Amino acid sequence: MRMIRNKEDFLEVYEKNLKREKDVAQRVQEIKVTNKRMLSLQHILDMMNSSQPLSNVFQSIVSILQEELNYLSCAIVQAKEFDGEKVPEIISQSNDSINEKMHRVLKDSGEDLILNYPNEGIFFDSLEKNKILLSTDLRGSLRSMALNLKEDVLRKMLKNAKSRALIVIPLYTHEKPFGWLVVFSERSYMDDNETDFLKLFSQQIDLSITIADLFQVVKNQAVTDALTGLYNRRYFNEFFENEVLRARRMNQKFTIIGLDLDHLKKINDTYGHTFGDLAISTVAKVLKANARSIDVAARMGGEEFNILLPGVDSQGGMIAAERIRSALESEKLDTIGHVTASIGVATFFEHTDNPEDLIELVDQAMYSAKQNGRNQVKLAKYSDNVSWQEIAIDTFVDILSKHKVPVSKALSDELCKKLQDTDGRERAFVKDTLYSVSDMLTQTYNPSHKMGITKNKVELAVKLAKLFDVSEQDIDKLKIAEILYDIGNLMLPQELFLKTEPLTDEEKEKIKEHPLIAAREILKPISNIQDIIPIIEHHHENWDGTGYPLKESGTNIPMTSQIILLLDSYFALIEPRSYRKAMSKKDALDIIEQESGKKWNPELVETFIKIMKD
Ligand code: GH3
Ligand code: MG
Repeated sequence: MRMIRNKEDFLEVYEKNLKREKDVAQRVQEIKVTNKRMLSLQHILDMMNSSQPLSNVFQSIVSILQEELNYLSCAIVQAKEFDGEKVPEIISQSNDSINEKMHRVLKDSGEDLILNYPNEGIFFDSLEKNKILLSTDLRGSLRSMALNLKEDVLRKMLKNAKSRALIVIPLYTHEKPFGWLVVFSERSYMDDNETDFLKLFSQQIDLSITIADLFQVVKNQAVTDALTGLYNRRYFNEFFENEVLRARRMNQKFTIIGLDLDHLKKINDTYGHTFGDLAISTVAKVLKANARSIDVAARMGGEEFNILLPGVDSQGGMIAAERIRSALESEKLDTIGHVTASIGVATFFEHTDNPEDLIELVDQAMYSAKQNGRNQVKLAKYSDNVSWQEIAIDTFVDILSKHKVPVSKALSDELCKKLQDTDGRERAFVKDTLYSVSDMLTQTYNPSHKMGITKNKVELAVKLAKLFDVSEQDIDKLKIAEILYDIGNLMLPQELFLKTEPLTDEEKEKIKEHPLIAAREILKPISNIQDIIPIIEHHHENWDGTGYPLKESGTNIPMTSQIILLLDSYFALIEPRSYRKAMSKKDALDIIEQESGKKWNPELVETFIKIMKD
């Protein structure tokens, strides 16, 4: 440190320090201002990240800007495109006395503010040169965009505004002109600090627009399918639900067309997945070309498509479906040539007034088109005949109310009441009741049986049956059989199911009686279930002829019985037994794979394992 030797020296140092102190104070002040501005920017950033609508973000930007830089007024003006022409529109403005006054003057004058895209002046220059510009000629500046305003109105709007300058900040987004940020300032100049800050704000606006666009893209992606651009399953289901409500409210029909590509697997196998994808996008193209703007065409998954046609009856639906079918057939695709599809059609308020049934009816009609030779359209059947659910309910009620099986009276009564309460209820409710009654009966002799298993079994059984071309009528029988096949177990001594040691030969023989007990003793007297009895009788026949009770083998065993046996084995393996622990799903599938061809039809096993692994 320098030694202070005399008075002059002292004064010199004193002066210097004083100046430094002032400098520091000014810096501190600048830092404070910058800090506050940074906080404002941070606030805008936070808003942008909270997926607020763009209009809210813009509103914050103009308000914050006005406050931070003490502007009199702020606005964002977008140059919107209409038919290739740009038309300026104010999309956000701060709440301030200038704006208020301008609105009031306009209103009193009875004139509309019609903005034109300027071909000269400050707005034009700033966007053309991408530069922040300041003009002290307020009236002239506004005039360049508001050509129609009368001179006296314009003058009135600006009278006593206290504003000395108009600053125009060009806005660009995705490198393209977007519009302007416009501010009225009390000062007739701009310093570098101010310009920098305004630049930051314009970048912020660019960023918010980009983010909002991205949100829009993400939102669109969530309802459309990436490969085809059609709506996805989620959107279709949502639309379908609303359409049901609308149809009921307006008492108006609508039709659903269900489409499934024919032999897509073969196309994939022969030409590769890329051409499979080409076939799928061709369907999408045909659907888009043949749908009205109010129709909703969706890819429900894989190679399945649905089209919902509001206000269309079955006759109209058939015409639309046939048009789609023939349009697809006549498309010529690279390398593959021609592809076809099988199509089902069903109409709400004609075939059913139950939404769930409608989807099932479309599916059945499509399936019947497949079975009938593919490349055709089938109309749903009117579901006036007795449904499989009704048959199953009547059968259970018959068995329980006549006490044909030894379950307690309390349980019989409870289950009968449950079953009878399904009258007039939705199909899903009826089905769930049937599944739970079946599960509860099984639990009386097998305590480790879980609720929900029957539902799983029926759904898997139907999937398998369809893949093996089982007819619709047989699939309905299979559903009933899947619910009822073990009912003979109720007649066997309880101890057999609870033993912790392996069963003796004698006991095994006893157990083997259950298919015949079910068939002959319990079900035989029930008239509408006669064609289900053979399926149940055969549900323990093995593929290699070592099963029971009739030692049938191979294709002599009904396909439906083969399916029941396979599912029964799988679900038994993953359940604990009194004499062993439950197996993992993977181990159960391994065992089934190893024994394939002995107990079970090997083709069935292969398909089943594929389904389960998917
Ligand atoms: P069917 O006429 O009976 O409908 O025969 P299919 O071969 O079209 O029907 P299946 O249900 O046996 O097979 C459907 C095939 O569709 C199997 C699956 O690999 C294929 N697939 C599903 N989604 C796609 C996809 O996005 N792209 C491609 N290339 N193939 C798909
Ligand atoms: Mg297909």
